[in-house]
Amino acid sequence: MGIEISNVSKYFGDFAALDGIDLKIPDGELTALLGPSGSGKTTLLRIIAGLETPDQGSIRFFGEDATQKRTRDRKVGFVFQHYALFKHMTIFENIAFGLRIRPRKSRPDKETIRAKVERLLDMVQLNGMARRFPSELSGGQKQRVALARALAVEPKVLLLDEPFGALDAKVRQELRRWLRYLHDELHITSVFVTHDQEEALEVSDRIVILNKGGIEQIGTPEEVYDNPVNPFVYGFLGNVNLFHARFEEGVLSLRHREKDDGDPTLFIRPHDISIAPDNADGKGIAARVLTHKVLGNRVRVTLKTLEGDREAEAEIGKKEWNALKGNDLDAIYLRILEAKIYAPNETWSDYVI
Ligand code: ADP
Ligand code: MG
Repeated sequence: MGIEISNVSKYFGDFAALDGIDLKIPDGELTALLGPSGSGKTTLLRIIAGLETPDQGSIRFFGEDATQKRTRDRKVGFVFQHYALFKHMTIFENIAFGLRIRPRKSRPDKETIRAKVERLLDMVQLNGMARRFPSELSGGQKQRVALARALAVEPKVLLLDEPFGALDAKVRQELRRWLRYLHDELHITSVFVTHDQEEALEVSDRIVILNKGGIEQIGTPEEVYDNPVNPFVYGFLGNVNLFHARFEEGVLSLRHREKDDGDPTLFIRPHDISIAPDNADGKGIAARVLTHKVLGNRVRVTLKTLEGDREAEAEIGKKEWNALKGNDLDAIYLRILEAKIYAPNETWSDYVI
């Protein structure tokens, strides 16, 4: 096991930022800590790093108790959202920094440092930039330097706190693919903090979903997306339509969400609703289109059922929309392709309609 966190709690005054966290982070994997702002992600990462001391609990690194170990003895590398590169140093000097400050007897010689920095520049695809200063690089390039600098000291654990949070969407997407690629090459045990579910789903081997200082679920991206353990996880991982459901003589009827009288709740992703101009198989629900918005090759459509006036949001392909839009949009049928049912005090079940 890489990192083992046992019963860790952290209080700020009376407030529990972390409450009895138990978590095993496997060796060589990329684990994402995912949760809304304030859920305790940074606090947990700082405790792993030794920058913060837990009020309770212990941390083991590769089988060894590290709870009392100082940061510099834990062999961790960091990358934060804000670059924190040394402005007055060249890119080369920034990357070499961690090696240069080592005590003389463990410090590599000049030539070894040069070769290593060049290898790292190569790895982060910044060859030829060694003599530049941070102000001469783009945001994405600066974060790649920050990563090279963290890797230079050969950490056993790499910790990244929202490393791409300050970058624009396109660069962020490129960098997350690149980080995944790099991780596949190096296999350093890594913990990646993000509040962006898409980023966590794309980049990590395993996702830990945090909420209010506790863990809601741990699993592979596929496991947590396909089988969320509770409504919080379901809602956090994507958009959701909520309906109250009732089976009447084997037929599903949808009812107002507001009337919370203990009926099971149906959770439906917008992409699990399709829209047709007719009710060929008799399973459609009569509705009308309220609005639509084209988002590249997807179209987000808001609908209202004719009976009961329930609003729903569907996300369909542009082709499907183009085929639909010539019809009377006040008389269409929506179909629920897949839903999850959450009954209070019971577990989830899948429902394919
Ligand atoms: P996240 O990274 O998930 O956004 P944090 O771990 O930064 O969340 O914070 C978790 C909670 O702990 C927040 O409510 C935050 O306000 C609180 N908190 C974090 N650090 C401190 C601190 N040094 N003093 C007081 N409260 C803090
Ligand atoms: Mg944070």
